Amino acid sequence: MKNIILTGDRPSGKLHIGHYVGSLKRRVELQNSGKFDKIYIMIADAQALTDNFDNPDKVRANITEVALDYMACGIDPAKSTIFVQSHIAELTELTFYYMNLVTLARLERNPTVKAELKQKNFELSIPMGFLTYPVSQTADITAFKANTVPVGEDQLPMLEQAREIVRSFNGLYGETLVEPKAVLPENQACLRLPGTDGMAKMSKSLGNCIYLSDSADEIKRKVMGMYTDPNHIKVTDPGNTKDNPTFIYLEAFSTDEHFQKYLPEYANLDELKAHYERGGLGDMKVKKFLNAVMQEILEPIRLRREELAKDIPAVWDMLYKGSEEARAVAAQTLSEVKKAMKINYFEGR
Ligand code: ATP
Ligand code: MG
Repeated sequence: MKNIILTGDRPSGKLHIGHYVGSLKRRVELQNSGKFDKIYIMIADAQALTDNFDNPDKVRANITEVALDYMACGIDPAKSTIFVQSHIAELTELTFYYMNLVTLARLERNPTVKAELKQKNFELSIPMGFLTYPVSQTADITAFKANTVPVGEDQLPMLEQAREIVRSFNGLYGETLVEPKAVLPENQACLRLPGTDGMAKMSKSLGNCIYLSDSADEIKRKVMGMYTDPNHIKVTDPGNTKDNPTFIYLEAFSTDEHFQKYLPEYANLDELKAHYERGGLGDMKVKKFLNAVMQEILEPIRLRREELAKDIPAVWDMLYKGSEEARAVAAQTLSEVKKAMKINYFEGR
């Protein structure tokens, strides 16, 4: 069996440091590992429209932003096929057939979708497109016969749904589709990076993000304004590092070398945490260190991005080339699917 990756992001905003640690960094490592036969990276505009259908301009503008974020982080179009979802009509067709294999009750049980419905206040007017996006995500994954999907933790229910559809399809129509597995970040702190406001997830839709494209000043302002432990009022108070996003970010981003360089009085994060927990360490000092770490990591990404942004037509050329290539692959899978379902009536005519 071939080793194939499919993964992607919704162009509902620019990409942030949660995407970086949750998925992007891993994709670049996997891309450069040489272990994969094919890597497809999808800009999921059709999925973004399921909850942004009233604002297609936003989705359109963010396709460019996401493509720039990808390349700035090291995704290389020579090694990975970057494409735009809506260009591949075959994905919608697959979705239509997969819908028969899923019940409404099953879709309503998806915990990520449930949380998103609540967050978006859809209440009784849930768009069908939104509720069924996990089915369309199954089409995206299976169209490319992907066995590996590097994602953040919130995507686990989507992968479970995809596996169920694949099993049910193969059971009914014969072995056709490949069952995918999620690859999560190894570092616990990166599974679901919290927002700068302390909310459980940094998310484009919640406006609690540090973006890969933020200027040095914006990064500093956001880090210095971050939510910490609300009970750590005086420097001498003992502090909590567990639900404290500043410490979670340090878990996700800082290394011992960063300590040597910017905060040599501590050997590592464990020592810094121990001091905060026993009291006597102020939030300002922690934030200043976090800011130095974030600046070091984000500066090269931002500079590369600025360079790439000078030639937007080249970005669209790259996306078109990737989308055409991806379309041919999805068309092949769709023809296998139709054959398995015995609805290939006009094949060979
Ligand atoms: P939206 O709010 O529009 O859903 P999002 O910020 O959740 O946007 P997506 O495009 O839905 O971003 O997610 C893209 C990928 O990034 C997924 O694999 C997801 O698991 C991962 N991801 C998103 N946010 C985080 C986060 N805060 N921590 C870790 N991974 C994340
Ligand atoms: Mg999301």
